[in-house]
Amino acid sequence: MHFHVITLFKEVCEPYTSSSILGRAQKTEKGKGAKHRGKKIEVSYYNPRDYAKDKHHKVDNRPYGGGPGMVMMAEPILKAWEKAVGRKKDAKKIKTLIMSPRGKKFDTKMAKGFAKKYEHIVLISGRYEGIDSRVQKILKAEEVSVGDYVLTGGELPALSIIDSVTRQVPGVLGTFESLEEERISSGEMYTRPEVFEYKKKKHKVPSVFVGGNHAEIEKRKIGTALVKEKQVSRAITAGYKQCH
Ligand code: SAH
Repeated sequence: MHFHVITLFKEVCEPYTSSSILGRAQKTEKGKGAKHRGKKIEVSYYNPRDYAKDKHHKVDNRPYGGGPGMVMMAEPILKAWEKAVGRKKDAKKIKTLIMSPRGKKFDTKMAKGFAKKYEHIVLISGRYEGIDSRVQKILKAEEVSVGDYVLTGGELPALSIIDSVTRQVPGVLGTFESLEEERISSGEMYTRPEVFEYKKKKHKVPSVFVGGNHAEIEKRKIGTALVKEKQVSRAITAGYKQCH
């Protein structure tokens, strides 16, 4: 999977994509034990400023119809897109996403679909008031949102999408981690020590987790997961009602 990020702020994104699991996924796996040879993902960055026509490398302009702020111009973004995937032959393997708070809400189902269907994902990050709408029309791009809140730029949304799609690329997570992801789990977990003292109070790991009865542990985890799931969906519905 090759991610192409169009952003004015590569320096915000690069430390994240070159660390931990994402960093490792960009290295070539060698040796006898390697299950998925070669790089699992690649990440490239393109700065619209490098494709601006004028000598000041201007990428934004005043909006038609008035209103506050500036809008990112179409041409530098389209040129960056051409540089990224313009020469690729198989258009069916390319997905172009525009980060937008009004877009379709991104979720695990989309992440799985993207990882399966595409070889190249272009992520266009907006800044200022957003991007000239002709970019979406020309590229037939999909607008995606990472939640009902407005950020100052599309970099964090792009990183979230890269991160969750990468988890779905075969060989990135170990078998155990992938299995864990499929399970309903409450997220209730403990590690050493069994009794942890904080501000003179003793906090014990619940006895069922220490007992080693795996069936009991599963039951407890699934039980609390179902309660959590209800709370979460209630919170989502409440948030939705507030916004509409
Ligand atoms: N007033 C503008 C806000 C622009 S925010 C509007 O109504 O669209 C600037 C940029 O940040 C956007 O172009 C988008 O790329 C990104 N962004 C902000 N919040 C986002 C969210 N929740 N999901 C995805 N992208 C977001």
